[in-house]
Amino acid sequence: MSIAEERIERLHGLAREAATEGEFDRSREYVRLARRIAERNRCGLPKSFQRSTCDACDVYLRPGQNARVRVHRGRVIVRCHDCGATERYPFD
Ligand SMILES: [Zn+2]
Repeated sequence: MSIAEERIERLHGLAREAATEGEFDRSREYVRLARRIAERNRCGLPKSFQRSTCDACDVYLRPGQNARVRVHRGRVIVRCHDCGATERYPFD
């Protein structure tokens, strides 16, 4: 694992903790920092991290807390309660 990937993993944990504590703006800072590191190193965010973040407002999504997750016609639909955006992706 590269240093960039390790930093991204650490930021993933921090973003999750911040969101769990209701510190959504702080979770955004961690998500944005992780995205910048991923871009600079062209390594991308791990899928699990990518799908736990809102593409519209960068908040870390915690189902039951600031997000609602549904499965509809084989797709996962995630709604961010913080900004109202909805994301869909194939169920896998
Ligand atoms: Zn959002």
